Amino acid sequence: MAETRTEPVVVIGLGRFGTALALELVSRGTEVLGIDHRHKVVQALSGRLPHVITADSTDIEALRQLGIAEFHRAVVAIGTDIQASILTTSLLSELGIPDIWAKAISSQHSNILTRVGAHHVVAPEHDMGERVAHLLSGRILDYVEVDADFAVIKTTPPRDIVGVPLRESRARSKWGVTVVAVKPQAALPGGAPRTFTYATPDTVLAYGDLILVVGTVDNVERFATSD
Ligand code: ADP
Repeated sequence: MAETRTEPVVVIGLGRFGTALALELVSRGTEVLGIDHRHKVVQALSGRLPHVITADSTDIEALRQLGIAEFHRAVVAIGTDIQASILTTSLLSELGIPDIWAKAISSQHSNILTRVGAHHVVAPEHDMGERVAHLLSGRILDYVEVDADFAVIKTTPPRDIVGVPLRESRARSKWGVTVVAVKPQAALPGGAPRTFTYATPDTVLAYGDLILVVGTVDNVERFATSD
């Protein structure tokens, strides 16, 4: 069967991160098996998650009985109990799950998770801290680092590129960034909501328009802190 993004996912550890992840997946139509060893947590979620079970994920027999080996994707959302997180990840690897995601709470934790078989490691607290630091600077309204040194930001245009077609603006030559989409601030007749559309070389930006800009981290920062 071809791999699709709607294949079932097992989410192990239903703390704040695991619960938010599981509920979001379910709301997007993905089948989720949620597992937590605290019965109270499982009970509290049973009305919102169609498949949620009390089990200890450090017990390989329990994992086998639940048929976890049949899953293509698993997320280890245990953070605080590092030992349980590492052991669970290594057991999922032993069961041959092809796509294991794990949450880390430190860089050492992240390294170990990779060594014991995690294919993807996420560090939500660390990443969110970095992200908020960017949101606090200049006009950056949203920030996503898509690679080690490359980011997409939501911002408003600096004076230099307002009122001229993008092809004539100095977005590339002065800041080394590319404006990829724009959501004009000016209302549409009848008050219909504005949406983002792709920017073209003919796009003319106005003050207060929302724009999506891509470039290296340094360049998008410089762009969003100039006036
Ligand atoms: P968050 O910061 O996202 O709330 P936590 O690490 O505090 O993350 O929560 C992780 C969840 O994982 C808790 O609900 C905890 O009961 C669960 N958990 C911890 N160890 C195990 C285990 N061995 N088996 C199953 N669930 C576990």
